[in-house]
Formats: sequence, C-alpha cells, structure tokens
Amino acid sequence: MKQWFSLAVLSLNFLFINAQLLSVNKYEIAVSLPDSMNNIEIMADVFLQVDNGKADSVKIDLCKDFVGVGCKISSVFLEEKKVEYFLENDEQLSIVPEKPLAAENLYKLTISYTLFKKEDYLKYQYSDFAFQANADMAHINAAITRADNWFPKLRGEHIKRLPPFDLQIKVKKEYEVMASGKLMKIVEDGSYKTFFYSSYKEITDRSLYFFINKNKPFLARYDNGFCIRMMVPADTLKGNTKILSDIAFKSYRFFESVYGETNLNEYKLNSFVNESMGYSGLFNSCNIPERLFVSPVILNELYIPLRDFIHEISHTWWGNIVSSDPKMNYWMFEGFAKFSEPFFLKTILGKEIEMLYRKRIRLVVASNADFIPPLRFDASSISDQGIKNDAAYHQGALFLLTLKEMMGERDFINGMKEYVNLNRGKITHPDNFFKAMQNNTSIDLHDFFYDFLDKPGFAEFTGKTENLGKQGGQFKYRITISNTGNKYLFTNMLLNNYKKTDTVIVSIPAGQSKTFEVFSKDTLSTPLFIVDPDEVFMVRNQGLRSPGAKLYTDANGKLRVTGIVENSPFYKTGIKNNDVIESIDGQDLTKNDVYAQHRFIHRQEGTTMKVTVMNNENKPIEHSLVY
Ligand SMILES: [Zn+2]
Repeated sequence: MKQWFSLAVLSLNFLFINAQLLSVNKYEIAVSLPDSMNNIEIMADVFLQVDNGKADSVKIDLCKDFVGVGCKISSVFLEEKKVEYFLENDEQLSIVPEKPLAAENLYKLTISYTLFKKEDYLKYQYSDFAFQANADMAHINAAITRADNWFPKLRGEHIKRLPPFDLQIKVKKEYEVMASGKLMKIVEDGSYKTFFYSSYKEITDRSLYFFINKNKPFLARYDNGFCIRMMVPADTLKGNTKILSDIAFKSYRFFESVYGETNLNEYKLNSFVNESMGYSGLFNSCNIPERLFVSPVILNELYIPLRDFIHEISHTWWGNIVSSDPKMNYWMFEGFAKFSEPFFLKTILGKEIEMLYRKRIRLVVASNADFIPPLRFDASSISDQGIKNDAAYHQGALFLLTLKEMMGERDFINGMKEYVNLNRGKITHPDNFFKAMQNNTSIDLHDFFYDFLDKPGFAEFTGKTENLGKQGGQFKYRITISNTGNKYLFTNMLLNNYKKTDTVIVSIPAGQSKTFEVFSKDTLSTPLFIVDPDEVFMVRNQGLRSPGAKLYTDANGKLRVTGIVENSPFYKTGIKNNDVIESIDGQDLTKNDVYAQHRFIHRQEGTTMKVTVMNNENKPIEHSLVY
C-alpha cells in the first residue's frame, strides 16, 4: 500500500518536472519502411533542453490518442548511450538518466520504434485516414484537429506548436513524398531515395505529416515566385491541374489579403486515396480526393466539389496559424473554414453565392436548432457526429456571417486581421476572438457573442400590429417586435409601406422590444412586416420548433428524409434516414423548393404533422409526428 502511494507521488512529481524544466529544442526524425511497406519505422532524435534546475527523469508520450495504431520501441539512447526505459502503458515511456539533466547542455535522446496497425485498426473511425502502410502508399495524416503523437512528445505537450525539425523519409525509388515543412533536397541511393524536409521560420504547425505514394510531382508557378507543388495521379486529366492550381492560388491569395499573410509563397497539394474521406487541410498544404484529378470537374450551383478544396485551403489559418482546443471550440476550426468558402467564392462568382450559401446553412441549422448545442460545446459529451458537425460547421459559419452583417464587412475584416495577428502560433480562445472583433466596432457585441457561444437554439420573437387610426388618407400602424427568448436578436425585416418596401435592421437584447411605424391602405393584402425575409438569420417565431431532420430530393425526384436526430419528432415516429416521403399532411411536396419544404415542417410546439412513408412492400404507412 505504502509503495503504491509513493509511486503515485513520484509520478506526479515527474509530471511537474516535465512541465517546469524540460522542453524540446529540435527534432531530427528519420522515417523508413520495410520492403513489405506494412509498417513504418522511425528513428527520432529529440534534443532536450533543461529550462531551469535539474531534470531527473524524462516522460514521453508516443501514439497518444492515435486510435488503431500501435508502437513498438526497439531502443532508447541518451547521448549515444543505450539507456533503460520503462513503459507505464503502451503510450507512456519514462527514462531515468544516470545523472540528472542540467541546464547548460542540450541532450540528444534517440528513440527507435515501429508504428503498425493494431488488430482492431479498422474498428476505429478514420484510422485509415490518419495512418496507412501498404504496398501502394503510406501516410501519417495529422489533419488539423488531431495531434497524434506519432513522434515523441514530452508528456502533456501534445497540442503545443512544433519546435524546429528536420524530417527525412527514405522510400523505394518509384515512390514520391509530400511532408511537413520545406523540401530541401532529394538524395538518390541505388534503388532508394531520401526526401529531406525542414521547418522554416514562419511555420506554426503542431504536428508532422507525410504522404508516400506513386503520384507524379507537378509544379505550377504564379506571380511573385508563388508556386504550388502538386502530387498528382498518373492518369490526371489534361487541364485539371490548371483548374485546381488556379483555385489554390486565387483563394490562398484572397485569404492572405483578408486573414493576414503567411510569407510562405508556396502551397502543397496531394491527390489522396481513402475510402472514408478524401480531404484534409494541413498547414499550407492539403489533400483532395483523387477523383478531382482523374474525372472532369463539374460544378453545381454551390461550387461543389471545389468549395471543399477552398475550405481546406482556409484551414492554413483556421486550425494552424490560429488554433484553439478542438474538444471545446471545434467551431473555431470548422465554422471559420465553412464561412471562408462563400467569402472567397463571392469574389469570383458575385455576391449572390454568399446569400445562397447562407440560406442553405440556415436551413441545416434551423432543422436541428432544438437539438444542437451552442457554439462552445464539449465534443466528448456528444456522440452524434452529425449534430457536432451541424453545430460547429454550419452554426459556426452562420454566426460569423451574422457577425459580419452586424459589424459591416470593413470592420469585420479588420477584426479578423487583428485576431490572426495577435493569436498567430498560439493556442487561442473565443475571448480573444471577441476582443479583436469588439476592438474594431462601436457596436456592443457582447450579448450577441456570448449568448450564441454558450446558449443553444435560435433567438425567438413575437410580432404585433396595432392600428393607430387614419392619417392623411392612410392608416398608420405600429409594429412591435419583442425578443421573447434568452438570446440577443439580430435580423433584418421588411416593412411594407403603402408606396415602398423598406428593409430595416432589428437588433434587440433578450427580454426587450422595439417598435416600427408603417403607413398602409385599409386593405391589408400584403403583410405589413416580414422578419428575416431571406431566412438567413439565427431567429424564429416564438414557439416554432424544429423537426430534427432535413428533407432532400434524390436523383429520381423522390423526397427523402436525412440527418434524423435522436429523440427528435422525426426520430420518435420510427422513420429512418433516406426513407421516401410520399406526403406530409396529405400534400405532395416534391414540386416545392427546398426552402418551402422546410418551412412546411417547422411548426409550433405541441402541434402534430402526418408523414406518409413507403414501407418495404411499397405500402404507404402514415406516422403522426408531435412537436
Ligand atoms: Zn474543415
């Protein structure tokens, strides 16, 4: 008993020592693969620095949270001398040097180990996206929200920015490599070649990545020496490299002009083959799916599939240059990247695209508004990936679009620039984003910002009309909009006067009201006011509830339901994702547009809706859904 107790104290001590005394000054990492290519061999030199006092132990994490991937250590050397180490578990390595490490020196710790797929590798979501080793390719894909410790990190430092590094990767001659940092040289040696990558001054990466495959290198040059290093499939269609590199160049330069320069003058792009996902945004580089190279690029009205590519390019800023804790503030990665897609696209397609986007994003968020958490949510407490994505990507983007509307585009951009400048290379926080934005506007953003950061759902309102009697041949009406919810309400409103229609801004703190006056003829053929006429704001009528699912029309013109959220009205009927909806309340909605379809299924709390779906025998079954 006593022994266990002292061990516990000792390991607390070690943690303290690591946090206080030691840091990594530099990494020199060599990667190679056996001829079978079925695992990845690493020899990592970690140059340790004692920041003050003496360190009598070194605690290292290896493969922490790297699901499905195992690690087998073959040797540990300190200053070229073999040392004993012990493993507390698979991921935690401890070394007690003969003499405590002292402040004057840099100490070289060399760890040799093998990374391999565990038996249950494929049981984990995205494991093959993050790690692969087979005859066609090998990779460690350290996409932005991951901080996989595939290389040795001091305990508790896995989300810190990287110190300087050299990364060399030895492969058989027929393979190519794209990796973290700048390509310094390629050295050929018989049937092998080694790629040397190194960090450079402006790099703000947190993890190292590399991709080994049989793609072909392709270099696209632009003005001022800017170049895009591409790794493309051998059967890339003529013209596709130009379409893709032009988008990379234009969007990258646009984001630099808005979010701040990177000073890198280079972007790396790899064609990626993966069953589950194709895209990953890394620091100043990304992967996009092979199909974008080998089939014609045909864009829909929302610029899919290229908008996903633009999204990844913006991750150079959102998740790398500026980065927060993804477990709590996933929206600061994904909401910002989603926001960036139309923000760039409107520069080449006109501003209508931004409105179209907002409408689509709003529709997604509104459909689940009663189920998604606020912007700042604890990701580990929610299991439904769809809800997490709606909350972080769509709600995050909608929030930023509204913030831009409140501040005006010029002040908004100045705020974004200030935010990136002050938080470059740091682990940041929503308070820092708030401060930068508030610094650039005279409007008080506080209640709007923190209400949506920490409270779920939309802002709610009621609207009331009073006839104030006749004035100069017209009836005068008073319209009162009351904020009946618990969040700041910001939207616009159409006022239909007798002769003209005005758009006014409605900006009301929780619990307060505002009045507007309208003149009209006696006969009210058109409504006097419409709140949020384009359906793009985070607001709704008091008591209106979301169904917890979305509708879509498939390629055969059939209306289907998707994204059904647990315990939502749709869920409780037993209707399943992708079921065909024959009718709702007896109406065939297939002729209606997607907005009208959704307007129809957002209803007052306590009301019901009849949904008819086809069962397996193609018989209509009616379900009653309660809001
Ligand atoms: Zn993303």
